[in-house]
Amino acid sequence: MPQRIGIFGGTFNPIHLGHLVIAEAAWQEYDLAKVVFVPASHPPHKQQDSDVAPNELRYEMVRLAIADNPHFDISDVELRREGLSYTVDTLRYFHTQYPAGTEFYFIIGTDTLEQLPTWKYIDELIELCHFVSALRPHYQVNREHLTERFGDLAQTRIHYLATPQLEISATDLRRRLCRGQSVRYLMPDPVRRRLTEKGIYDC
Ligand code: ATP
Repeated sequence: MPQRIGIFGGTFNPIHLGHLVIAEAAWQEYDLAKVVFVPASHPPHKQQDSDVAPNELRYEMVRLAIADNPHFDISDVELRREGLSYTVDTLRYFHTQYPAGTEFYFIIGTDTLEQLPTWKYIDELIELCHFVSALRPHYQVNREHLTERFGDLAQTRIHYLATPQLEISATDLRRRLCRGQSVRYLMPDPVRRRLTEKGIYDC
């Protein structure tokens, strides 16, 4: 069987248990050799507002969050790249880093999956990787819409992951931190400690 690698792109502003739970489920369900977390520098679909923590801090928080998991890894490829963080560039890069025949599984939440048709060079991207979508509370997937857009590839390249649905979002965590509310049990402790220490997301 060809080697399978999971790629998990996100802003991770900050990383939380919702991210970690779906990465672990994807690793197990798809028999992935590892899952590489790829923090984005400038995600094209997100507003560049001032509450995005600096690249090095988001990288550091992901590093702390995955430290005790031997099949999780991190890459700074998008942080090193100038301009917007397009997933197609990232997948092209990973294809150069692994032996031919390696299969890539890109992990996304269902909210993000909805936007897939608008992604840059999506017709190339869907050939470069499979998509593993984890259901997110309150987001329904319009599978018909995806089939209309991608035809048979919607069945062969887009997969749905059964995983506990955690209603945790980075937006809510930033709000809580700003208000001084507890974020304990919503993110790994080392991340929470680092955030508190540095006052990241304080208002
Ligand atoms: P924000 O609230 O700032 O938009 P976020 O919590 O959605 O952030 P991202 O870093 O933008 O976090 O997410 C990276 C990927 O993880 C996206 O594909 C997103 O859909 C998915 N994701 C994030 N949180 C969850 C969750 N609780 N359950 C399932 N998927 C999630």
